[in-house]
Amino acid sequence: MTADAAARLESVLNAIRRAERQAGRPEGGVELIAVSKTFGAPDIEPVLAAGHRAFGENRVQEAQGKWPALRALHPGVELHLIGPLQSNKAADAVALFDVIHSVDRPKIARALAQEMETQRRRLKVFLQVNVGEEPQKAGVAPGDVDRFVIECRDELGLDVRGLMCIPPIDEPPSPYFALLEKLATRNGLTGLSMGMSADFAEAIAMGATHVRVGSAIFGEREKA
Ligand SMILES: *Cc1c(COP(=O)(O)O)cnc(C)c1O
Repeated sequence: MTADAAARLESVLNAIRRAERQAGRPEGGVELIAVSKTFGAPDIEPVLAAGHRAFGENRVQEAQGKWPALRALHPGVELHLIGPLQSNKAADAVALFDVIHSVDRPKIARALAQEMETQRRRLKVFLQVNVGEEPQKAGVAPGDVDRFVIECRDELGLDVRGLMCIPPIDEPPSPYFALLEKLATRNGLTGLSMGMSADFAEAIAMGATHVRVGSAIFGEREKA
């Protein structure tokens, strides 16, 4: 089972390169974040051994439990936080992660800015947009994005690289990817964190710069 992860990584990378070509985009321009949430070191090791270095986790505590040891063995790992963050975990998140994709409200933006100042670490961040305006989902509403970018980038001085979204699950994602692209361009942001196992090729067609792919690499997750 675990030996397959390297083969699946290879086929996801090939599919990404194919989508880049089809979209007329430069080869290698899209960054693959391998989402290793719920998987342990034995599952992650083969992907590291294959040379991959960008990984995504959705829980601070879970990531703290496995990544310090893996990092000590594999220099150059870049860790991305892709899940919701509570203010009381901001210090731990800033200490462990390199990139945060889930800055989803002013309160957490302020807590992160303060922690980065305290720890003298400047993480790259993406601002999460609730593109489908779903009540159960994190992120700022599309209509609040311009204001939130100003607050995060200009007032708090965060290193805002772009926008992130998770479209509604039971609808075609492309219109939502297009919306995120429009909101980013309008605000002078070039990063687009969008696309998961089921839809990363469509996301790349719509301009994704970072795709977050879990099950297509690691296999199905057990339901928590
Ligand atoms: C779990 C997760 C992913 C990866 O999902 P897959 O369908 O397994 O590729 C991507 N983004 C976020 C925010 C996630 O929580």
